[in-house]
Amino acid sequence: MNIVLFGPPGSGKGTQGNNLVKNFNFFKVSTGDLLREEINKQSILGKKIKNIIDEGKFISDDIINDFIRKILSKSKINNRLIFDGYPRNLEQAKKFESLLKEHNIKISCVLSLEVEKESIFKRILGRQICSKCGLIFNEFFNPSNTSNHNCDVKFLKKRSDDNEKTIKSRIETYLDKTLPILDFYKKQNLLHQISGMAKIDEISKEIQAIIASIET
Ligand SMILES: [Zn+2]
Repeated sequence: MNIVLFGPPGSGKGTQGNNLVKNFNFFKVSTGDLLREEINKQSILGKKIKNIIDEGKFISDDIINDFIRKILSKSKINNRLIFDGYPRNLEQAKKFESLLKEHNIKISCVLSLEVEKESIFKRILGRQICSKCGLIFNEFFNPSNTSNHNCDVKFLKKRSDDNEKTIKSRIETYLDKTLPILDFYKKQNLLHQISGMAKIDEISKEIQAIIASIET
């Protein structure tokens, strides 16, 4: 059972991926995490990646695909994978197909969390993280109050890249590059579209039901 997880920024994709890791023994493959790890290692590749990011450029498909190839060759985890943030465009999706074939690995389902565009803005713009205890809130959907949070409101902080301009460009990139991939998987009968507007635990249940239906 290997899963590809899709969803625009702010769709709750990260939360759902983490739940699957915690409760169902999956191993999450996040290209963002892989890049950060490589940078922290201060390897030659890591330094190269850091330069590209510092210049505000995109990491090439070749570098990303190499990371994925390495993961796929680790036989211990290669039948319990969740791909989060990959593939990001149609070229990567096609390369991914051939890498999977090379390693004799199959994708069991593609889960797409669907969220209305207006709601994405609020979800990201309203996001607040407590710098003291690490809890995450949303001033529109899940505000911090005395019954769910003990720290002072002064600890609530927003992420620096969560401003309107960067969110717009992240959403545009998503719609432009990622949506064509969904068609690609739809044709292979792998796509499951899930409403990301539901409550977190309702979405989790829906995902679990899909997984159960595939595993039996
Ligand atoms: Zn707190």
